[in-house]
Amino acid sequence: MERDSPARPAQQHEHNLALIMRLVARTGAVSRAKLAHDSGLTKSTVTQLTGELVGGGLLREIGTGPARGPGRPANLLVLDSLGPVGIGLQVGVDHVAGYLTDLTGKIRDRALRRADDLRGDPLRVIKAAEPVLRRLINAANSTDNVVAGVAVGLPGRVRDATVVRSTVLGWSETNLPWLLGDRLDALGAGSIPVTVHNSHHLAAHAEQWFTGDNAEILVYVGGEPVLGAGILAGGQVRGGARGAAGELAHVRVSFGDLPCACGGVGCLDTVAGQQALSRASGVDMPSRSRLVGGDGPLPALLESGERRAVAAARRAAEGLGEVLGGLVPALDPDVIVLGGHFATLGAPFLERVRGELAQQCPELGADMRIRPSRLPPDVVARAAATTVTQHLIEDPAVRLAE
Ligand SMILES: [Zn+2]
Repeated sequence: MERDSPARPAQQHEHNLALIMRLVARTGAVSRAKLAHDSGLTKSTVTQLTGELVGGGLLREIGTGPARGPGRPANLLVLDSLGPVGIGLQVGVDHVAGYLTDLTGKIRDRALRRADDLRGDPLRVIKAAEPVLRRLINAANSTDNVVAGVAVGLPGRVRDATVVRSTVLGWSETNLPWLLGDRLDALGAGSIPVTVHNSHHLAAHAEQWFTGDNAEILVYVGGEPVLGAGILAGGQVRGGARGAAGELAHVRVSFGDLPCACGGVGCLDTVAGQQALSRASGVDMPSRSRLVGGDGPLPALLESGERRAVAAARRAAEGLGEVLGGLVPALDPDVIVLGGHFATLGAPFLERVRGELAQQCPELGADMRIRPSRLPPDVVARAAATTVTQHLIEDPAVRLAE
């Protein structure tokens, strides 16, 4: 990889700091000699860079490794678990969930605030987030870890990691970092940078970071609270020119005939959306997130072969397969991960999606890897927290300059 080799003099220093951080993150406990070998940098440059990173609280020296040949055994370096940490929030209509993770990826604490309905005024979300933030900030303070950032995942279209438009939450052009930054200040946390991300985009990252799936191109399709997708290519989210990449809910399905909330007819959401699927199955389910309300009665109905539920799930799978069939030739993904309520619908649902996909694009669809997500329903919060620590690994110079 080009970024894993030394850079031109202009950005050399920053580049090399990041190179060392990535190598330590990848290798685990590692000696300076091995870092020099793996990076192609001289030993004295590595000594200088690691000195800065240790001084900045990003790397830490631990004991010694086995001596290779004559001479003193080498000190080993690891990512500093006592260094900066990240807070991630997951905002849904009925909850705010939070994670605190450190540079090594370890989960240090988590919190959940249930709510009846957070739609409407964004200050409702801010208010629900407050106890979650307070707990996580206290947890960080108790171990003297500095909170490097707060990242928020929510259903909506995000521009520049700041401005959010969310039909689910009823927000138009909301600058969440500005609102949340104010509240963090009021909590005495000082000025902590805040970023916002689409929850499906974070869920796609989660599949890569927390399952070890090293797919080059990964498509995550989630169902709650709104149907949508996150596309990863080379480890990076493809958000699109307007932050709208993956908005599949209102793609027209050929056999769809029901009116949609968007004003259209036969959108994928009217066939495969969580609400539509429940309604068509004859399940009168209040619209709760999986995190708060669990999987609901649908999985058991499908398991028992209940006629209406099976028919509704079949239509949902066909609709989803048809829309994905349009996407697959454009992206040629390694894997499609079905998350949200799709993950709970069982193997027959998965097989039907695969079958429809194979019909749509026989060449690519037939051996496409499709799997359900097995990550917990608050994983967007964990992924959000990881964006903060990941950023420290990818761009340590910013932290050292503070
Ligand atoms: Zn629609």
